[in-house]
Amino acid sequence: MNCSQAVELLSEYYADALDENIIIEIKTHLLECQPCVGIFDDVTLIVTTARILRDGEHIPYPDEQVLWQRLTVARH
Ligand SMILES: [Zn+2]
Repeated sequence: MNCSQAVELLSEYYADALDENIIIEIKTHLLECQPCVGIFDDVTLIVTTARILRDGEHIPYPDEQVLWQRLTVARH
């Protein structure tokens, strides 16, 4: 698994929506790739913040999919 594959799968990884063998591949990649660990930390923060804002405050806020698209665009 390379970095772009790992990054593409991170949101599903976070959502726990992947097969076990794919999860193992991502975990293995994260062990040996510090940049992807940084991205994963950012994603965790984005998703957590989005959920708090959406669920707690009931204010309009971009949903996770929009944030993901922004993150993807920013990286290309
Ligand atoms: Zn990587």
